[in-house]
Amino acid sequence: MPAEPSSVRITRDCLGHWYASFVVTREAEPIPAADPGSAVGIDWGVARTATATEERFDLPHHGHRKRCAAELARAQRTMARRRRGTGHPPSKGYRRARTRVAKVQKKAARQNRHDGRSWARAVVEAHHLVAVEDFRPRFLSRSTMARTAADAAIATVKRELLERGRRAGRKVVSVRPAYTTMTCSRCFARAKQPLGLEERIFRCRACGHTACRDRNAARVILAVAERGHTGVDDVSQADHLPPGGGAVAV
Ligand SMILES: [Zn+2]
Repeated sequence: MPAEPSSVRITRDCLGHWYASFVVTREAEPIPAADPGSAVGIDWGVARTATATEERFDLPHHGHRKRCAAELARAQRTMARRRRGTGHPPSKGYRRARTRVAKVQKKAARQNRHDGRSWARAVVEAHHLVAVEDFRPRFLSRSTMARTAADAAIATVKRELLERGRRAGRKVVSVRPAYTTMTCSRCFARAKQPLGLEERIFRCRACGHTACRDRNAARVILAVAERGHTGVDDVSQADHLPPGGGAVAV
């Protein structure tokens, strides 16, 4: 611990986990200013939690999350098989399965938070402008376990990134997700049809630019924010900087 704790609080949650929280004073470590020209765009996804404009700032989808999803599915199946108890108290087996489900969910949430913190810290430290897809969880009726887990992970990580960014005095911009996957990050031409979820490569019909679908979206998100906008709709193609071109007024 960074200093002698002044107090400690012991708590126990409904799952029987014990926690000890200590109160300590420590020096605030200000995050050093980033190069004013440094910028990053972030696109959220299921296959990779976050895809950044540069690969080294990607947040991969970790294996433990998959394991958790499998474990959770198993526990939920057991729960469904046990008697839920309408009119009579829930059976012992049901209650045991329910506790198991809650434990797995809690573990997954804790790991997401941990991964998200270190990733968000690295992203915020290195960039002055952080442009983020304004993701809203998509709990659709057809959503799979993997998608639900990804939604939860993204929500946690996004909150962490926005909070850290603002605390560090970075410029944080939320960009509306509409058209980000169907717009070319190089010439800003928009495809007539959205890409199917199974199509992983973006190909521009106007300029021939080809890129990984999520990487292209991250670059579009950044380009929108760099022009002072919050949606692809607000940027006209003429505003967009051609590769190797000069400065463009926003
Ligand atoms: Zn293009």
